[in-house]
Amino acid sequence: MHPLFADMPTTIFEHMSGLARELGAINLGQGFPDFGWPGDVIGRAADALRAGSNQYPPMRGLAALREAVASHYRRHQDLDVTPDQVVVTSGATEALAASILALVEPGDEVVLIQPLYDAYLPLVQRAGGVPRLVRLTPPDWRIAEEALATAFTERTRLVILNNPHNPTARMFGEDELALLAEACVRADAVALTDEVWEHVAFDGRRHVPLASLPGMAERTVKVGSAGKIFSLTGWKVGWAAAPPPLIDAVARAHQFVTFTTAPNLQEAVAYGLGKDEAYFSAMRAGFAAGRDRLRDGLETAGFAPLPAQGTYFMTIDLAASGIGADDVTFCERAVREAGVAAIPLSVFYAEDPVTNVVRLCFAKTDDVLDEGLSRLRKARALFA
Ligand code: PMP
Ligand code: GLN
Repeated sequence: MHPLFADMPTTIFEHMSGLARELGAINLGQGFPDFGWPGDVIGRAADALRAGSNQYPPMRGLAALREAVASHYRRHQDLDVTPDQVVVTSGATEALAASILALVEPGDEVVLIQPLYDAYLPLVQRAGGVPRLVRLTPPDWRIAEEALATAFTERTRLVILNNPHNPTARMFGEDELALLAEACVRADAVALTDEVWEHVAFDGRRHVPLASLPGMAERTVKVGSAGKIFSLTGWKVGWAAAPPPLIDAVARAHQFVTFTTAPNLQEAVAYGLGKDEAYFSAMRAGFAAGRDRLRDGLETAGFAPLPAQGTYFMTIDLAASGIGADDVTFCERAVREAGVAAIPLSVFYAEDPVTNVVRLCFAKTDDVLDEGLSRLRKARALFA
């Protein structure tokens, strides 16, 4: 086994969901919804299977889906994407892997913002990239100009930005995005923008794609996922969108990683991306209600939740909640002794972790949230 993987634990998502299954715990850990998927999109996928959509589709994805992604981004984000600038992948995860394999050469520096989504660092390191870390801290989680100035050098090849941001649930401000864009242009670096949460934004906030900033369209690989847009996380249909030659490089890697993605699901996603605004606002409203219910319940129980601007997640500050334990201890005891799974944030840091914050998923039905809250009260009592 490659030494990088030899000492690596199983991902926190698998670890916590595995414990939740084994112990019968309420799972507010791994981010997946238990309601809200559109029946018509699922119907399309089922119909497509029966109608014979079962053989290899084109390597870059069905034409219908590449067209749908391009027109979706034109309509919702005013981006100038054409169908030949889209490659369909097996989830955003594969789009990230293919992009990193294609773009990072050994010794290239890659700017990463921690807390970071778990896949980034191992993929960058396995590609031979040298991580340069920008550290965010609660409660603001802001990208500081000085931190960017230190992280970017003349060897910077790539920066990976996740916005809206998992696990902090922040949407970066236009000032922060502008700083990042300027740093990319100055360093002549490529931005890999993981925007899988682009539609899960609350309180009237609109997602601003980094590609829309001056000088960025030609240097950005934008990654999206149907899993989050349609609340169907198991489908693993994603994509990368970028101008040539970036998209051609991503396609070269993709053809040897998975080559293609289930064609019936591609057909259904192509149909779904054309849905009208009512679908997207109802989806957001459903999750915003879950967010509010969880926040109110947490506050009543004496926890200190941090604001959740987007994603399926809300974080709580343990120290501010009067809990002296670190996040890993809290989460391990909460799942084993109180029957509720959560995710410790420290695992998303490569160094110098923040250890007093845990993440909860609120994309759940009211009954599940209420039961989760009652178990969180029990977990809190363990540390009284
Ligand atoms: N990036 C981020 C920030 C995510 O939160 C997730 C999954 N929640 C992914 C990538 C992976 O997306 P997919 O399931 O489409 O591979
Ligand atoms: N993105 C999901 C989360 O943040 C998990 C995805 C996975 O389990 N790999 O919870």
